[in-house]
Amino acid sequence: MKYFDIMSDACKDVGLSFNKDIYSKFDQYKDMIKFWNEKINLTAIVDDEQIFKKHFIDCIKIFKFSPLKEAKSIIDVGTGAGFPGIPIKIMKQDLNLILLDSLNKRINFLNEVVNKISLKNVATIHGRAEDFSRKPEYREKSDAAVSRAVANLSVLSELCIPYIKVGGYFVAMKGPSVEDEIKDGKNAVSILGGKIEDVIKINIEDSDLKHNLVIIKKIKETPKAYPRKAGTASKKPLR
Ligand code: SAM
Repeated sequence: MKYFDIMSDACKDVGLSFNKDIYSKFDQYKDMIKFWNEKINLTAIVDDEQIFKKHFIDCIKIFKFSPLKEAKSIIDVGTGAGFPGIPIKIMKQDLNLILLDSLNKRINFLNEVVNKISLKNVATIHGRAEDFSRKPEYREKSDAAVSRAVANLSVLSELCIPYIKVGGYFVAMKGPSVEDEIKDGKNAVSILGGKIEDVIKINIEDSDLKHNLVIIKKIKETPKAYPRKAGTASKKPLR
């Protein structure tokens, strides 16, 4: 229970309650990350304290954007080892979550995590984000899309915004400086049907880390032409 208090403080900061059962799920998830990381590349962060701070608390802070607490369905695009999707789901166990990643080894890991810590209503998808958002069963079906460390805002918007219902949100977890990305990505966001509504600064307890959440509201349908063929968004980002 070494990191119980710091996790509890982070949850308090975003207005969520925390308890021993929740802590236990995070602790088991941490053990699985360390175990699997020896076999497949999941993360460069392997120290317990850093896993709690730079992965778990960083992801919990996404709830600084409180409307996310009301979302019933969320897709995490380019989830990797499950960030931010798994921490979101541990904190809000009643939501429907989709974890999508193009690397199958990571999806296999996530299936094990979901079983081991008994998370319900989680779908894992192995594939490119651009391929699945064209399918009617996924297009404009989620209340929110979230993503961390996958691409710049312009590219990421093409990967994420098509999944969201009109009126829903895309929350992009970004590093300390976002001004240039926002300047470069603003037009792409608008083409895809979104509008940058806010930038929320987040801090991580007991560390100097400063991150930003870019909040994009979907205000109209994404035109049928998007997303373009897989890989095009990063080769020719919308400007
Ligand atoms: N979101 C995780 C995190 O913050 O730790 C993982 C970040 S990792 C740097 C980027 C992940 O995005 C990788 O697992 C990669 O396979 C996935 N990815 C990149 N482009 C993608 C795409 N077009 N569709 C699906 N997954 C993608």
